[in-house]
Amino acid sequence: MSETRSCDVLIAGAGPAGLATALYLLKARPELRGRVVALEKHAHPRFKTCAGGLIPKTILALNELEIALDIPYVTVTRSSARTVVGDALVERDEPVGTVVRRDEFDALLARSARDAGLRIVEHCRVAGVEQSNGCVRARTDTGDFEASVLVGADGSGSIVRRAVFGNGKETIGRALMTDLPADPNKDVEFAERCYRFDFRCVAAGIKGYAWSFPCSIGGRPHLNVGIYDQFPRKCRDSGGEQAAMLRELVRAFPELPLAGLSDRKISFKAYPIRWFDPGDRYVKGRVILAGDAAGVDPLMGEGISCAFEHGKLAAAAIGRLLDGDPRALADYDRELHWGAIGWKLRKLAFAARHFYGPYHRTFFRLSRISRRAQEIGLDWYNGASHSDELSTAVLIARWVRSVLLPPPVR
Ligand SMILES: Cc1cc2nc3c(=O)[nH]c(=O)nc-3n(C[C@H](O)[C@H](O)[C@H](O)COP(=O)(O)OP(=O)(O)OC[C@H]3O[C@@H](n4cnc5c(N)ncnc54)[C@H](O)[C@@H]3O)c2cc1C
Repeated sequence: MSETRSCDVLIAGAGPAGLATALYLLKARPELRGRVVALEKHAHPRFKTCAGGLIPKTILALNELEIALDIPYVTVTRSSARTVVGDALVERDEPVGTVVRRDEFDALLARSARDAGLRIVEHCRVAGVEQSNGCVRARTDTGDFEASVLVGADGSGSIVRRAVFGNGKETIGRALMTDLPADPNKDVEFAERCYRFDFRCVAAGIKGYAWSFPCSIGGRPHLNVGIYDQFPRKCRDSGGEQAAMLRELVRAFPELPLAGLSDRKISFKAYPIRWFDPGDRYVKGRVILAGDAAGVDPLMGEGISCAFEHGKLAAAAIGRLLDGDPRALADYDRELHWGAIGWKLRKLAFAARHFYGPYHRTFFRLSRISRRAQEIGLDWYNGASHSDELSTAVLIARWVRSVLLPPPVR
């Protein structure tokens, strides 16, 4: 029988949530160098089904962690949205998005975390979790690991979540995507540095949107094209969940060569995204959840910025726990429900209910009333200058002012 390896902090999963937890923790407490261990079932660089769109909030986190984005990326300054009641375009002077490839991005985070003192045990799959006497034990296919706290950052299908919190209500959306070679002179995503979103699939029963992002794969321009559905099981009930998503994706971008998707002549990847449910708990004993394992943005399925937000809060809570503060982990749970990230995800859950609900036309119409209001909404969503941390009252006041008052003369 293999011996149990012990450390101070165990992290299940070395994706953005697990690595952000380690990076924030080791930045604040360099003395933990070598005592924080991440268990990862794959090895970096590893493929991850994801469009790789980083909102400005994530770039702020990278700056805070002093990580230079020295991998290939494409930035966009415009965001266009097609809806059943018309189109909208928001343009900013600064990037509204930075598109990376997740294998390269996650490998960069892993490198930075290793440099800071994280031990990553690769090809190590967590199979179960047990707790006793203030100690957590992770069972893996290469033996047991023990620590005084465990972060479940093992993604949407989290084993830690299932082992410790039970199956519970499943709040899992699905996204599928493919990559197409692009012509940077012709395709608007490159020519106009634009993210394209298409919400017309909502009218066909898909609670989500299709997207097309410019990206760089192996130094060559590509489009990452995909579709997100917050409630894929509903589609499955009425027959052919994936077929309906593929049909709507082709319909959203008729000018793109997507016709071969339905018969798999063009390959695509599908993957679940767990979204935030305020009824969930994120702490049990010495085990806490972060990132997709906890649940991310229900409206857009954006999860990388949430992974960094959760990681930062988890690191602060773990630091306090190691100092002997018995309230530390309970406060983490409260932050995820009621702190800035909890409020943001609640608002996005509210928006998802309405934009993807029976009165979606009314809500899409309302959102198109004022261009300035759209800009405020986008800046809030993007967390540019931490505007996502503004109170609801301030946001509503800004929104009302932007709708009722004419724009200032420059
Ligand atoms: C098609 C698609 C497009 C998306 N596009 C975007 C986007 O443009 N922008 C955005 O912000 N978000 C996007 N998302 C969501 C984003 O990918 C996730 O929210 C994000 O990856 C969450 O990070 P995480 O660290 O919590 O989980 P993950 O990135 O899933 O990382 C979890 C890690 O844990 C490891 N792991 C899993 N199980 C075990 C185990 N049992 N033992 C050990 N290790 C384990 C995995 O190998 C992985 O490395 C998209 C998702 C999909 C499906």
